[in-house]
Amino acid sequence: MLPPDNHVHSEYSWDALAGSMERTCERAVEIGLPSIAFTEHADFSISEMTPESFFPDQWKPYVELVDGRSILTPPRIDLTGYLETLERCRDRFPTLRVLSGVELSEAHWFPEETADLLKRGGFQRILASLHTASARDEDYADIGVSIKRADPSAQYRGYLAEAVRLIEEYDGFEVLTHIDYPVRYWPHEKTPFDLLAFEDDIRLVLRTLARADKLMEFNTRIPLDPRVVGWWRQEGGKGVSFASDAHVPDAVGRGFQEAAEVARAAGFKPGADLFDFWVRD
Ligand SMILES: [Zn+2]
Ligand SMILES: [Zn+2]
Repeated sequence: MLPPDNHVHSEYSWDALAGSMERTCERAVEIGLPSIAFTEHADFSISEMTPESFFPDQWKPYVELVDGRSILTPPRIDLTGYLETLERCRDRFPTLRVLSGVELSEAHWFPEETADLLKRGGFQRILASLHTASARDEDYADIGVSIKRADPSAQYRGYLAEAVRLIEEYDGFEVLTHIDYPVRYWPHEKTPFDLLAFEDDIRLVLRTLARADKLMEFNTRIPLDPRVVGWWRQEGGKGVSFASDAHVPDAVGRGFQEAAEVARAAGFKPGADLFDFWVRD
């Protein structure tokens, strides 16, 4: 049995243009996932659209020109529609456990907006993310854009340092997502990526996370490096949450067989039941 997929997006995430909660559930049943969580984006940070940005027509209503820069203000989630569709999926797929959830971006910068959303949403899975960390005071670009414009190593270090601040300043979450998010966009043709150059910075994030009694996410968008999973175990990590971070139905549970093997080899095992997070062996 595959581990639960605790980080999936549907059409209720503003950037999942081809998302579909119903078809994602269908696919989850097909591949034998025990449970999935629809953790839609809650992005309160604005972000600059540059020539390098992915910028489909559907986002145009959310972009305005400010001082000659195209600034995107991500739309808010339609919570009523989201919760209704979730209920419909629970009825239609009784063998699949369908959890509600949210992926909070930079929650420590937006405590009031975040608290209000959590109160209204009553979410079962609460993920804490960083997407625009290194651009805080300068240009607000998503790190996928800024990492290509500035020194990528400095950008990743900035991201990891911000992750420590997030954990220290914000307590309302269960799982820290994609510690390797900037690596997805790494300009390999310009600078080879050397994980060991960031070992100390990554270990500091993991240690802080373990002390805060939270979980690390095993995100399979680019498979998390097995060494990071080993460091998490050594730094005291109590468990692992698996995540496809799917934005289209076909990507749900992708890479989970391999991820489960890596987690097992690092000293983690399934929790008390099929729907739980994995725990230390
Ligand atoms: Zn994310
Ligand atoms: Zn996500």
